[in-house]
Amino acid sequence: MIRWIFIFVLIGIFVIVAVWFAEHPGRVGIEIAGLQIQTEAGIFVVALVLFAIVSAILYRLWRFIRRAPGGLLDHRRSNRRQRGYQALTQGMVAVAAGDAGEARKFARQAESLLNDPPLTMLLSAQAAQLEGDEDAARRYFEEMLENPEMAFLGTRGLLMQAVRAEDNAEALRLAESAFRLRPNTPWVLRRMFDLQVGARKWADANQTVQRAVRIGVVDAETGRRQRAVIAVALSDEASAAGDASAALKQARVAQDLVPGLVPATVALIRCLAASDKMRRAVKAAEAAWSAGPHPDLAAAFDGLGDENEAPLDRVKRFQRLCSFRPEHSESHYALAEASLAAHLWGEARRHLEATGGDNPTARHCRLMAELEEKETGNLEVTRQWLDRAVAAPQGESWYCNECGSIAGHWTPGCNSCGAFDGLEWQLPPGVVALPPAAIVPALTASDTEK
Ligand SMILES: [Zn+2]
Repeated sequence: MIRWIFIFVLIGIFVIVAVWFAEHPGRVGIEIAGLQIQTEAGIFVVALVLFAIVSAILYRLWRFIRRAPGGLLDHRRSNRRQRGYQALTQGMVAVAAGDAGEARKFARQAESLLNDPPLTMLLSAQAAQLEGDEDAARRYFEEMLENPEMAFLGTRGLLMQAVRAEDNAEALRLAESAFRLRPNTPWVLRRMFDLQVGARKWADANQTVQRAVRIGVVDAETGRRQRAVIAVALSDEASAAGDASAALKQARVAQDLVPGLVPATVALIRCLAASDKMRRAVKAAEAAWSAGPHPDLAAAFDGLGDENEAPLDRVKRFQRLCSFRPEHSESHYALAEASLAAHLWGEARRHLEATGGDNPTARHCRLMAELEEKETGNLEVTRQWLDRAVAAPQGESWYCNECGSIAGHWTPGCNSCGAFDGLEWQLPPGVVALPPAAIVPALTASDTEK
């Protein structure tokens, strides 16, 4: 509207000026470099106005032309970006497919097309890794650390490199910095826990488990068991350092977390004894034996006797302990061993014959050999038992669920493969325990079928 009023006003002024010039004729003369131009004033004004209009049109045209190449450049730029993203995508697919050559090619393309290092660095690092160039990959990962948005990815890359190189100290350092960057990432918590228990940093591992349980990465029961095992380790560590009260405290923590955990009870019995709480130690051993007899409990209970305890007194102590589970094979073995030490051959034989079955374990065969050697001195029979022991099944042992090795005694981590809480008291796979009563009817049944 204003624009139209402006145009009407302009036209009005133009008409007034034209009329004025028509009514007042005159001439205009210009002399430039010896050239003389003479014209009527009216025509001169019209020429002036025409010149102004043409100039304005030319200016507009020039502006349009000047802008046009800019538009073209923008188009070329967005096209480049699109090709860059395409290369990035194809590169990632190549990484997933494990195609090192393709990955490298697209990584280079993406790098030059996008010119956006944070975006292409990960692809370049992965491509380098696929080609086996770990040094180049490390340089990319380290560069990523400089960029706050990429620091976590860079740390992850370096951590995986350290894990593959089995540099556990460096891996733990990197896991801890990954944790600082993103404290609730499940894989960071799991990896950091594994490295902490591997480095025997029990207190740190304990905190990691608690956080993992809090955010739901580890279920409550697994978390409790892991904390119990850690508490046993802390108790052992305090015992070794001579701090009896800390050792006892941790043993109690372990026992409270998982009441049936044999190593926790063993630690508790030993710590109570070390703190001169003998009656409580005996009570703890008896309660545990009645819940589930175990050779490690028998060994801990054995340690509760006086230094100069007479063998017969020792047998009496074990008789009381085993009275809580008189039929259990561990009760028979515990009493057989105590009786052997006290030269009570008849008692020892009675207990050994009450257990063992048709296919006795190596442990049973060795005890029989010891009895024959000590009681009768019959070397032939003794050797037969020792020969049998070699081929006899292993029986229940601390068997590692991860690597399948058998440990002589329990440790928080497997001594062969390092698996935390990997040892479980069980029959090694392939060994089937059958009570004697189950074997005999099975044989007779098949005999009658024939
Ligand atoms: Zn193992």
